[in-house]
Amino acid sequence: MAWKPGGNVQTALFLIAAVAIVAFGAARSFVSMWEMDTIVPAPGFEKHMLSEWFEGIKDTPADTPVYIQEGSEPGGTVFVMGGTHPNEPASSLTAVLFLERAKVHKGRLIIVPFANIMAFTHNSPQEAHPQRISFTLPDGSLRSFRYGSRATNPIYQWPDPDVYIHPQSGQELAGSERSNLNRAHPGTPDGALTQRLAYALRQLVMAEKVDLAFDLHEASPEYPVVNAIVAHEKSMELAAMVAMELEISDIPIRLEPSPKNLRGLTHREWGDYTDTMPILMETGNPSQGRLRGRTDEDLVLTGADKYYAWAADLGLLFIPYETDQPIGLRIARHTSALMSFFDSLAFLDPSKEVVVSGIPAFGELAENGLGPYLSPLD
Ligand SMILES: [Zn+2]
Repeated sequence: MAWKPGGNVQTALFLIAAVAIVAFGAARSFVSMWEMDTIVPAPGFEKHMLSEWFEGIKDTPADTPVYIQEGSEPGGTVFVMGGTHPNEPASSLTAVLFLERAKVHKGRLIIVPFANIMAFTHNSPQEAHPQRISFTLPDGSLRSFRYGSRATNPIYQWPDPDVYIHPQSGQELAGSERSNLNRAHPGTPDGALTQRLAYALRQLVMAEKVDLAFDLHEASPEYPVVNAIVAHEKSMELAAMVAMELEISDIPIRLEPSPKNLRGLTHREWGDYTDTMPILMETGNPSQGRLRGRTDEDLVLTGADKYYAWAADLGLLFIPYETDQPIGLRIARHTSALMSFFDSLAFLDPSKEVVVSGIPAFGELAENGLGPYLSPLD
């Protein structure tokens, strides 16, 4: 006798309705990441869009805000870029901190807080990352920011090829790296959006005659290039001065030369293709690492993880790790290094001096975290 399905029409309708409710809830949560984080730029910043430097990304999801503040006295131009990889939150949040606090007295400060804004609209699959992280301000209010992915959201650029060929060098990389902004530099005016985005950033660096350009990152604590400055040959003298100054201030930092054969990265390509001195900096983020246990907002904010503590005991990590690596400390590292670079620029060429005030000191940020230094939303 043939098998006949059990149940009835009522059961089927009930199941369809249950699936629809789950799908609706999931879709709403997913789509909520398409909303921009609100930021409160300090007085003096002028908002632009990156497409002003390259039409080819106008009206595309790659276009991202650019903020510029010019001091009353002439000096150098520095460019601070956060959010190349949105799953490295101390990167974009350091840029946000400068944007909300900085007062430029001399020279010019250009900030792009969300460089690959196309990677802020989704999470990396199977990483269990939170969608947002929040900070409590002194008035009790909350400011929240998206925790995105390393790669451009595939809804903007799909499918990835099997092999991604870096256009200028012919270097072959995994196909998924086509969606990685930090393999797309110096960029191409046509092609996929991530490559066009990199091209637009290069146009900005060239047109604005940027003297010193920063690309801020985080890496997992078991990765050798962490708590580090990576410098192109052009930037090495300056970076060495900063590394020494940080060392004296009890903020040890590694100094790495930009490898010549690794292509598509800011520190290599901006150095080779523009007149700027590029610097990439890394802090240690346990929520990115492969050794981590439970992954949630708390881990992103505190960096406290028992498996990392264990790995530290076994001497497997490249950062000093007591029980934690809070985000305030990671932002403090980026911030102090940036301020030290701004100071040191004047030693190379006094006419390129950049003077910025309003930025909390290392100890304040490490102690109090980011919350007290963000502006309340009205
Ligand atoms: Zn990164």
